[in-house]
Amino acid sequence: MKAFVVTAPKEFEIQDVPEPVATSGEVVVKVNRVGVCGTDVEFFNGSMPYLHDGQAKYPMRLGHEWTGTVISVGEGVDSKLIGRRFIGDVMLGCGKCKRCTTGRQHTCADRFEVGIRNGWSGALAEQLAIPARFLHEIPDSFDDTIGALVEPGANAWRVADAAQAKPGKAILIWGTGTIGLLTAQFCIAMGATVHMVGKDPVTIKLATQIGAASAGESVLEIAGGYDVVIDATFDREVPAKLVDLVEPGGRIVLIGVDNNSAPIDSRKLVFKDVTVVGILSGSPGLPHSIEFIKSGRIDPRIIVGATVGLNEVGEVFLGKRPAGAGIGPKILVDPSKF
Ligand SMILES: [Zn+2]
Ligand SMILES: [Zn+2]
Repeated sequence: MKAFVVTAPKEFEIQDVPEPVATSGEVVVKVNRVGVCGTDVEFFNGSMPYLHDGQAKYPMRLGHEWTGTVISVGEGVDSKLIGRRFIGDVMLGCGKCKRCTTGRQHTCADRFEVGIRNGWSGALAEQLAIPARFLHEIPDSFDDTIGALVEPGANAWRVADAAQAKPGKAILIWGTGTIGLLTAQFCIAMGATVHMVGKDPVTIKLATQIGAASAGESVLEIAGGYDVVIDATFDREVPAKLVDLVEPGGRIVLIGVDNNSAPIDSRKLVFKDVTVVGILSGSPGLPHSIEFIKSGRIDPRIIVGATVGLNEVGEVFLGKRPAGAGIGPKILVDPSKF
């Protein structure tokens, strides 16, 4: 089968690789669609911290925001799964440790991360192997585009949940990329008022289209201030600014990560009585993401700019917008085209 392989920073090949085989407890899926995300770009560029602390190394098969159809099952897996469509958790915990058995398998010390950590091959390929226990079935009403957006949606749901979004809450989201925009959709669906700050005029426009009360390149001062402020950027300067912006007694939710540490003054958190929440992954949010989309409370497809073949992924990573791409920041890949 064909796979997109990153061999060194900014170097890649479409390789012919052996098809995966479902071992005990696993399935193999035919990948129908996979999203390219900021984490993938960091791996491609060589800046991702995991490359420097031993959690990942080249060559790498990226891709963790996928949807696919089960084509084979390993020992102990119900063969009725064959032919059905799923998405999968990115975080593959050991299933035995205290974190795994208390609902925090995404923080398991021994976890694999699909296409990210400890060498588990990702979904930028025609097929992918994954333990069946990490699958989530998607409804027939979901097309492949929606399927590939469930995982980033799950991250966004967790941010909105940590923000305690509800009617009467004023929320500032810094960052108008995929996660910022999806988070806005969930917060708005939960009844909150959302304001957004970004750098890119195109995605700032998209923010107002999805229902943000305001979106611009600088923070809008609002009466009563922001109950919750969210960092969905790759900018180490942003968290400290959010500490100053949040209302006393409010919340700061962090999902963005710069490659360098982002300093904040902890004294301000104490004096302002602020709660800070970090969100690592979408794992506990996957069922919620599916449910919000299934019930029509959000439609994430507006954030997709283009769908390309496996042969075009390298250009996307190198920063080129596909010809005819719309305004959405998210690029999806159909691995059957190469
Ligand atoms: Zn991602
Ligand atoms: Zn574990």
